[in-house]
Amino acid sequence: MVDLKGQYEKIKDRVDSSLLEVVESAAFVNGPEVHKFQKELEDYLGVKHVIPCANGTDALQIAMMGLELKPGDEVITADFTFAATVEVIALLGLTPVLVDVDPVNFNIDVEEIRKAITPRTKAIVPVHLFGLAAPMDEIMALAEEHDLFVIEDNAQGIGATYTSKDGKKTKAGVIGHVASTSFFPSKNLGCYGDGGAIFTNDDELAHTIRGIVNHGMYVRYHHDVVGVNSRLDSMQATVLRAKLPHLDEYNMSRREAARKYTAAFAGVHNIITPTGVCDEGVPVCDTCDCHVFHQYTLRVLNCDRDALVQHLNEQGIPCGVYYPIPLHLQKAYRDERYKEEDFDVTNQLVKEVISLPMHTELDDDQIEFITTAVINFVTS
Ligand SMILES: *Cc1c(COP(=O)(O)O)cnc(C)c1O
Repeated sequence: MVDLKGQYEKIKDRVDSSLLEVVESAAFVNGPEVHKFQKELEDYLGVKHVIPCANGTDALQIAMMGLELKPGDEVITADFTFAATVEVIALLGLTPVLVDVDPVNFNIDVEEIRKAITPRTKAIVPVHLFGLAAPMDEIMALAEEHDLFVIEDNAQGIGATYTSKDGKKTKAGVIGHVASTSFFPSKNLGCYGDGGAIFTNDDELAHTIRGIVNHGMYVRYHHDVVGVNSRLDSMQATVLRAKLPHLDEYNMSRREAARKYTAAFAGVHNIITPTGVCDEGVPVCDTCDCHVFHQYTLRVLNCDRDALVQHLNEQGIPCGVYYPIPLHLQKAYRDERYKEEDFDVTNQLVKEVISLPMHTELDDDQIEFITTAVINFVTS
């Protein structure tokens, strides 16, 4: 699914020497590399504050802690996402409210958010699923109307650009009140272990969050709030510093691969290829980086998706099903408020989606091999 080794070979000299420097400096935690990475990521994203932490799940949890959400507060998020999103809501004693998604771009459906808002609603968590920014103009307008926080789960969308209706371009993760991301190795900007970060333009919130990641300490050994221990280590920071200057190029390679996949599937009537948002009708946008293809996810219609997965695996082609079970049907997150008819889209998508190998090192032969295998199966 990913080729981290091939990517490493190209930056090996820089990564090896900087890792060695960290070892020799013995500044393993909160060293200068972490601070430099933080500044570089702030510049790249155009955000005032990046607060590095241990992983993307922590990042989301800490963002919610920073907003001082309280038990009983309702937080609306998508039914079709990775479980981490709903997990931290539940873990903090907040009430997750799952809503259905859009069948075209897989992102949270704004009308469904609107219907789910109650007097107890405090926040919305849009996930930029598979690397495509959620409809942030509409989400921000709705949030303003109802005085809600917006916490972007940007684990899959780092480097993606969102173009507002007024033409303003902003990086995903810098639009809501606060955002989280993950540097898990397979993410678009991945380190060689676990890592994550929180972004915000709010000075006060950034200050609060800097204390929360460090045991609620603002002055050494004075614990003003209940915090956690969540930090990015220097080795991960140095790997991320080596990769960040290549992020746009990495995302471009992903888009290029997506474009080739989509071209190969053109005219295959029972395959729906993924689309961007800004260029209506253009499957893979040429003019911007609205989609960074963390995953390239097809919908296969009138076809046994699980048999397709097996067929591809038999030919040595890895593929993924993200996600096979709607969150509202997961044992941990069931809630009697949910009605099946409110999740028609997710219930359908979980049967149809399949994600093909997607990374920065895919070559034309691999893409042809993969697309041929898929087409042979779905048209037979
Ligand atoms: C990967 C991911 C996370 C969690 O990140 P970790 O670093 O693995 O904790 C959260 N949300 C989404 C949508 C993800 O894809």
